[in-house]
Amino acid sequence: MSFQNPVFIPGPTNMPEVIRKACDMPTIDHRSPSFAQMFRPAAAGVREVLGMSPTAGEVLILPATGTGGWEAAITNTLSPGDRVLAARHGMFSQRWIDLCRRHGLDVQVIEAPWGEGCPVQAMGEALAADREHRIRAVLATHNETATGVLSDIAGLRRAMDGAAHPALLMVDGVSSIGSVPFEMVSWGVDIAVAGSQKGFMLPAGLAILGLSPRAVKAMEGANLRRAYFDLRDMLNSYSGGGYPFTPPVGLINGLAVSIEMLKAEGLENVYARHHRIAEGVRRAIAAWGLRPCAARPALYSNTVTAVVAPEGFNGTDVVTLAASKYGVAFGVGLGEVAGKVFRIGHLGSLTDVMMLSGLATAEMCMADLGWPVAPGSGVAAAQEYYRSTALEEQRVA
Ligand code: PLP
Repeated sequence: MSFQNPVFIPGPTNMPEVIRKACDMPTIDHRSPSFAQMFRPAAAGVREVLGMSPTAGEVLILPATGTGGWEAAITNTLSPGDRVLAARHGMFSQRWIDLCRRHGLDVQVIEAPWGEGCPVQAMGEALAADREHRIRAVLATHNETATGVLSDIAGLRRAMDGAAHPALLMVDGVSSIGSVPFEMVSWGVDIAVAGSQKGFMLPAGLAILGLSPRAVKAMEGANLRRAYFDLRDMLNSYSGGGYPFTPPVGLINGLAVSIEMLKAEGLENVYARHHRIAEGVRRAIAAWGLRPCAARPALYSNTVTAVVAPEGFNGTDVVTLAASKYGVAFGVGLGEVAGKVFRIGHLGSLTDVMMLSGLATAEMCMADLGWPVAPGSGVAAAQEYYRSTALEEQRVA
């Protein structure tokens, strides 16, 4: 079959045709003014998406993925043996902890069940107990993609302030930024990490970082080893509108178009669209008699939902069958929830009607596998919700 179904994995996401075309461009000189003309509006747009000030702090766009963004964040601001405080409540928070340990950092981990959010109160207590201020950074995963849980970063900042703790706040927004509100300045985030392949609707290949002025200052004293990802080299070259190495020009051109698309739709509308599509998915899951892995509604993610398999069934089977029989991609469960869930990604370039096809496919798979789910029930619930909340512009478009 030469036709392509949309994907329902939580990244990489479906690529709009204009973005795909923008990435596929002829060679230009990356030291020429044309590159700077493409790069500058893209970087300025990223500031808006991150909720940064238009001028204070820095935006860095690296040839890497989100994992490289984590590494750049810690190696540029911390030194060997520094203590960091992190919550572990899913696969991605766990991987960032592991990366810190491999760099010789002393990670104080606060455990929370998978399905819970960042345990803000326990983090606040740990910070209050750290009277000597040995903790240099607090790490949080805004949207835990493994469980479909959105954490309260503003609350975490309040807990840090309540403990009058000066640690840097570093936030993984890889699967949230560009799809749900992110407010670097008002949440007091010092480093935000994003990737190109989720809310920005691009291929993988760019790690996107926002740095507060405090984070930029912390680079001076930090001596974890870094070379390619030494952000000071990047900042020196940026002032001339370029890079200290050859940048991935096509991806950056794609990012410029992605920013144009997000701004044309309006960030508030982008967030409302993600909420509405996600809510339809949640209605479908309830109609199936199933539940999300996220422990309660306040934690529900608008970018990904991990659906808990009924007792005696394996979530991975839905993903395998959807791919082999229907040519549709869902996400498998990872780590502690492997086999226990399957994940529906609902972020990026997606409409309600596209989502209905994903829900219908999931239903066909569950019926094929003998899950106790009435075919049509979830799609009907989502349709009902989408019908009653459709926007006028959407119908006209
Ligand atoms: N953080 C989160 C929340 C993620 O979802 C992912 C990837 O899915 C990563 C980090 C790692 O990003 P990458 O795979 O782009 O290196």
